[in-house]
Amino acid sequence: MEKIKSIVLIVLLIGAVFSGTANAVADRLIFPVLADNHSIAQNSADPRDYGWFVNNGFGNRYVGNPVGGHLNPPREYHPAEDWNRTDGRDNNGNESVYSIGDGVIARIERNHSFYGGTILVRYELTQEMDFTPYFLPNTTPVEQYRRDRHIIAQFMHIAVDGNLQEGQWVNLGQRLGVILNTYNNIVFQHLHFEIMVDPNGNSFATTARNGIGYYENQQLITKDGYIDPTRFILGYNTSQSTTNLVGKYPDSSLNQLILNYYTANGGESVFGHPFDNNSGTAFVHRWPEQGTEYVIIQDFAGGIYGTDKQCAIVYNPNVNSAFLLKEGFFIS
Ligand SMILES: [Zn+2]
Repeated sequence: MEKIKSIVLIVLLIGAVFSGTANAVADRLIFPVLADNHSIAQNSADPRDYGWFVNNGFGNRYVGNPVGGHLNPPREYHPAEDWNRTDGRDNNGNESVYSIGDGVIARIERNHSFYGGTILVRYELTQEMDFTPYFLPNTTPVEQYRRDRHIIAQFMHIAVDGNLQEGQWVNLGQRLGVILNTYNNIVFQHLHFEIMVDPNGNSFATTARNGIGYYENQQLITKDGYIDPTRFILGYNTSQSTTNLVGKYPDSSLNQLILNYYTANGGESVFGHPFDNNSGTAFVHRWPEQGTEYVIIQDFAGGIYGTDKQCAIVYNPNVNSAFLLKEGFFIS
């Protein structure tokens, strides 16, 4: 009897350990470094407003960089963001780096002769996404990276925490390691952070898709499926919080014709997500708000018209039909 009890207890304990995060989808993303004066739970705060900056941005050309600047042709375009402290605290070294969501560790390299340490974590999103708005402007993504529901993030130049293993689930905000000061006399002192669309899972064999981490031009960055890390984190969270508001009035009642039009004409991949057009609501509302002549409208942003443009689906109660107001106008 005692033996059976302990077996049951062990089974229960194992269940508790693995059920917490297994197969969790990333329904929210945070930044890989912690904004000053914020807790991990609040870490959707943009660290650039609280103690951090990106000094070598996504798609940036770093002329003469030591990684690929000496090659012919040179590889000088950066598929990532290099995160640094604004106050230079400890030269960025020993700063903690966190998982941006609930995901699974796809790869760890602890002692790479040049990169130092790196970890790649794969995240399953709540639904298939259209990544088109997040590629570099004026580049063309290949078909396999346009739509998917998986991304992989790389956190490079870090000392990966010793308890982490490939295949292990990690929680949003779980520490992955700390930024290296130096490794093999090479100075890093920043977090190199990148996000790739990842339809095929653990199919990559190197720490970066082209094996170096810098590219000859921006189109090759897009061709390998790299998206803008900061813009994606912010855009994904916005879409998560508002996509279920399509067709909804503030009292949660539904305008079925607006929802039908949205769904039948491409949904989120075309229109994006409900957008708060400065009227204090992302909901279905009348426009104009005053007077007897009006239509019913919902604003959208983040679809094929770009993250900085919006469109609107209009419901005209007089003719009982919904239609697209305008194919993208700039958000002022
Ligand atoms: Zn970098």
